[in-house]
Amino acid sequence: MSHDKLPRVFRYNNIELEDPGPEHDAVDVRNLYSATYPEIVSAAIEGPELKDGKRVYTFRRAVGTKGYNFVPRPAARKAFPKLVDGVDVKRCAGCKVDKPLPAFSKGTGPAGLHRHCRECQKAWRARRAA
Ligand SMILES: [Zn+2]
Repeated sequence: MSHDKLPRVFRYNNIELEDPGPEHDAVDVRNLYSATYPEIVSAAIEGPELKDGKRVYTFRRAVGTKGYNFVPRPAARKAFPKLVDGVDVKRCAGCKVDKPLPAFSKGTGPAGLHRHCRECQKAWRARRAA
């Protein structure tokens, strides 16, 4: 019996998922189950591992990162992020000072942050209110 005739088992999050049929490859299966488990689409596919006469595929959930996490867009990568003394910094478009990322609020600039630091934003708002 060749390996590809062995029954398939799909595992996700310690749940055993039924094989929807041999016409579906592992990617298909993952997509099918995304109707039930939306976050499965970002899961990595591991396997098949041969176990007890079955081919076991594991959909490994992407490990979430705690706290601040950013993925710079390719265009932004040249200038950002910059690592200074082990701290990610970004140059403020206003005061032109490299500041650690928490000095910036979320926005539409590079890496999903505002182009101006919080202090510059505050100053800008104060000027506007005056
Ligand atoms: Zn600034």
